[in-house]
Amino acid sequence: MNIGVLALQGAYQAHQRKIQSLGVNCILVKTEEVLREVDALILPGGESTTMTYLLQKHELWQPLKKRVEEIPVFATCAGIILLQKLGVLDIEIIRNGYGRQLESGVFPLEVDFEGKIEQVDGFFIRAPIIHAINDPGITIMAYHVNTPVLIKKNKILAATFHPELSQDSTIHQYFIELITSHIV
Ligand code: GLN
Repeated sequence: MNIGVLALQGAYQAHQRKIQSLGVNCILVKTEEVLREVDALILPGGESTTMTYLLQKHELWQPLKKRVEEIPVFATCAGIILLQKLGVLDIEIIRNGYGRQLESGVFPLEVDFEGKIEQVDGFFIRAPIIHAINDPGITIMAYHVNTPVLIKKNKILAATFHPELSQDSTIHQYFIELITSHIV
């Protein structure tokens, strides 16, 4: 199994290290050829405007849209904004939505892994707010200050925070299990 991390801009290396620490191959995706090779994809945090610009400049916008509809995807922070802009997640987002006081920091989160509740550290860095979910097929796995921060739709997992910066690997491990169940 080969997981790819979109590596045009942003926090992609921390995701790669996290996946590799779990014993799974993880490669950086910068071209359409590599995008076609991977079995699953991570869209990292960073700046969604810069990522959008670079994706369009390198003619990767349409290929990415096609690929994220085919394979399991894990999006974090700016990555979730990309999924919304690609039209893959029917949600409404407010960029940098938590305002000054809660803009960045680490907050404990309770995550509902299909009935099993686990605590994880939520690293929020100028995080977007999911302010509406229009698709009833989306489930909410965690909240922070009454807003959804980890959501799932079929083989798409999306966090407004940065699980790749956390000591624990719970969410990445869950994503690997999601991929495995999708492939089988
Ligand atoms: N504020 C960034 C954006 O709007 C996202 C921040 C992040 O990915 N850590 O694109």
